[in-house]
Amino acid sequence: MVRPLTPVFSQAILNWYDQQGRHDLPWRQTISAYRVWVSEIMLQQTQVTTVLPYFQRFMQRFPELANLAAADEEEVLVHWAGLGYYSRARNLHRTARHLMQAYQGQFPQTVTQLQALPGIGRSTAGAIASIAFQQPAPILDGNVKRVLARWAGIAGWPGKNAVAEQLWHWATTLLPTTRAADYTQAMMDLGAMVCTRQQPQCNRCPIQQGCVAFRDQTQALYPTKKLKKMIPQKSLVLLLLRDARQRILLIKRPPTGIWGGLWSLPESTTPEAALHEGKIRYGCELTHHQIWPKVQHTLTHFHLEITPIIAHVTRWQPPLMENTKLIWQPISQHEDKALPAPVKRLIQQLKGNTHD
Ligand code: SF4
Repeated sequence: MVRPLTPVFSQAILNWYDQQGRHDLPWRQTISAYRVWVSEIMLQQTQVTTVLPYFQRFMQRFPELANLAAADEEEVLVHWAGLGYYSRARNLHRTARHLMQAYQGQFPQTVTQLQALPGIGRSTAGAIASIAFQQPAPILDGNVKRVLARWAGIAGWPGKNAVAEQLWHWATTLLPTTRAADYTQAMMDLGAMVCTRQQPQCNRCPIQQGCVAFRDQTQALYPTKKLKKMIPQKSLVLLLLRDARQRILLIKRPPTGIWGGLWSLPESTTPEAALHEGKIRYGCELTHHQIWPKVQHTLTHFHLEITPIIAHVTRWQPPLMENTKLIWQPISQHEDKALPAPVKRLIQQLKGNTHD
């Protein structure tokens, strides 16, 4: 197969982008390194449609880097809660502070300098450098990996160094010398809109000519999937301790591990143990309780089966517990706290349930 020359490849993609690209995305309306960075971090492992409302809310509250740096981590997490992968929010916050202190609140402009910042990998650095600063820098997010793996016929799981190197090679080789920002966005859009994971729309693809996967009709084989491991199942009991003033007991989780730094519910392994801990560990006098139907929640490395128990607290004595941050939070104001998605759903259910 005769491959189109590099300028032909990038020109075809840029022409397509001019007509079909997603020019109305909010982070493309007003472009700054800060907005590109936040959007890129939110978009990691998350769909654009999910990110849109989070991005808007985040920008309303933290319109500039300085606002983010000056905020409490707790407030940043509240604006992130529901997007998952909370270490992204903590890194964002840490990096904002670092940029204020070490770079006078300005983003560095080269890929090397950007990559040296916490939480910014090579692809995110490339996106910021190209979109915000018009540097000809390659990116390799999930969408671009798929496009290039199919177009160049690169087999093997992209998580392997040797495969990633080939993909980076093509991402770099195909870069145009002008319109760096548009080209990066065009590649992202092509992967998201045309060269989709399922049923790519090759008939409207600007780089169909020269595409190995199209020629061989092997689109489904690229990129090669990682061999699947069985995801283990874990179970957990979550205790909703509600007092007569319609407040709920929340516990601050440690900064690392599952739901790190978020507020959550007391947890245990069995309903009996949870009720026992409610009394002994958290100092609650309980009347009746109810076990709710189990709920399922999937995290990166395991499925979680949650058994919720709602227990009514008549009296509470501050427990003799050391080093644990507890708070009685009004149920009606639960959105003020950064909560893991399943905990938030349970409290919303509790709020709407008048029969308990
Ligand atoms: Fe993807 Fe099809 Fe375009 Fe090849 S021709 S890059 S498989 S959409």
